[in-house]
Amino acid sequence: MLKLLVKGDLIGEIGFFSDRKTDYKAVSLNVASLAVLKKEDFLSVIRQFPTDYEQYSLMKDNINLYENIKGLDHKCMGCGSYTHYLSGC
Ligand SMILES: [Zn+2]
Repeated sequence: MLKLLVKGDLIGEIGFFSDRKTDYKAVSLNVASLAVLKKEDFLSVIRQFPTDYEQYSLMKDNINLYENIKGLDHKCMGCGSYTHYLSGC
């Protein structure tokens, strides 16, 4: 499947939050600016905020246990649904 991403789109967020290995690949057609957040940096910050860390842990469990991605504001790249990701489309 091929999807054209636009400014502000995210890739890899499900893998980031779930610790699952994803197989998304991206190729830029032009010069692109990217932001990268290392997981260890994210964890070192979010652990300082117990409520946010609890929310993160809940999101992670929902993805890994129930394949529920609600809360990530992620649309399936195949159909646009917010209830599953591409591999479950
Ligand atoms: Zn879908």
